[in-house]
Amino acid sequence: MTERYELPEELRLTRNLVRDFNKNEIIPLEQKIPHDSITISENDFSRLSQKTREMGLWCLAVPERHGGAGLSLFANAVITEEMVQHAAGLYCPAYGTMGDAPPEIIWAGDEYQIKKYGLPTVEHKLKGWFAITEPSGGSDPARAIQTHAKRDGDDWIINGSKIFISGSPWGDWGIVFARTDSESRRGITAFIVENDWPGLTVEPVPVMRAYYPGQLFFDDLRVPSENVLGEVDGGWDLLANKLLARARIPYSASNLGVAVAAHKMAVEYSKTRETFGAPLASRQAIQWMLVDSEIEIRACRWLVWEAAWQFDNGEDFRQAASVAKIHSAETLGNVVDRAIQIHGGMGVTEWLPLERWYREARIRRIGEGPTEVQKMVIAREILNPGGVHA
Ligand SMILES: Cc1cc2nc3c(=O)[nH]c(=O)nc-3n(C[C@H](O)[C@H](O)[C@H](O)COP(=O)(O)OP(=O)(O)OC[C@H]3O[C@@H](n4cnc5c(N)ncnc54)[C@H](O)[C@@H]3O)c2cc1C
Repeated sequence: MTERYELPEELRLTRNLVRDFNKNEIIPLEQKIPHDSITISENDFSRLSQKTREMGLWCLAVPERHGGAGLSLFANAVITEEMVQHAAGLYCPAYGTMGDAPPEIIWAGDEYQIKKYGLPTVEHKLKGWFAITEPSGGSDPARAIQTHAKRDGDDWIINGSKIFISGSPWGDWGIVFARTDSESRRGITAFIVENDWPGLTVEPVPVMRAYYPGQLFFDDLRVPSENVLGEVDGGWDLLANKLLARARIPYSASNLGVAVAAHKMAVEYSKTRETFGAPLASRQAIQWMLVDSEIEIRACRWLVWEAAWQFDNGEDFRQAASVAKIHSAETLGNVVDRAIQIHGGMGVTEWLPLERWYREARIRRIGEGPTEVQKMVIAREILNPGGVHA
């Protein structure tokens, strides 16, 4: 008998729980609030987060010892695909009612840092962000980072600026990567800073999604040495190994999930909308659009799963993560575009989520490392398999 892969029973059940939660709670609520909403009322938030906590759906990807469910990256990818299937899902999945994880690398911090910043964020008392990109560029941060930190007694003084930092306008604390050794490309240190410290200003950057990122200005920002995350000059290793490549996997799973949601809408609409006396679904031109979306989505799912499996097995997953990232961002853009075409004028109204996804999907080929940079990662590995790549 031929073996075939099936999702483990427990994971299937959890995925179904998330599907029902979206269907019964998030989507009906979303129909009553403005099209581009990124938050829900405090009342709805407490009511729904109470439910998800009771269902064991709170902070699924956070390690168990820190108050989450400690799912593997693979399980996380499967759940994420489901969780993002609503209008705000790409950037505000379930409006945070299933918990907002802090930036992953806080768990590389010491006990004080985890207790002060990581745990209260899991508890939804604080919100965190991470800042790598600067006006001088984000594709190649090791060269582009000009924000610098200098020792002053037991403290550090940070000067410079960051741009496009998601969550920073509404955040309480964040992780800033600053240059501490001007001689070395890798002489970068991670610092934990707080939004309301004197010397830090945050201004929103208006972009094509409602969830605006922020621009940060550091003007002699004083940071105590207990807020150095990891080793001094060791920020690059945290960045390159722990943060950037890994984050591309759940990011790709979100792209996949929204593509699935848009595709479902296109399939349903094509069956009910009639033109020239027959449903759209009977036309080959429409069928082929649906088929192209179906193929891209199926391929995308395996690429996301492969990257997650490699990560969970401790293999070098970076190439697979880049492949998944490119493919999922392109799939999302293509599928949403086709879904809009099939919906005709309705597709571009603010009555359906397609218009919102179309705008937000465009960012996905740039955020979390642009397509061209992912291609560099893949090319290096193809040309020099197993080599040491920074
Ligand atoms: C909405 C939004 C949210 C974001 N959130 C965060 C965040 O939370 N934290 C954070 O640190 N950053 C964040 N970013 C920044 C994001 O990671 C960067 O925009 C991205 O890495 C690209 O950097 P850049 O914009 O400076 O483009 P650049 O580095 O200036 O590159 C410009 C373009 O050139 C191309 N390119 C670059 N290098 C090459 C090459 N070698 N060969 C061919 N083409 C190349 C790419 O297409 C790229 O898009 C966010 C960005 C956006 C738009």
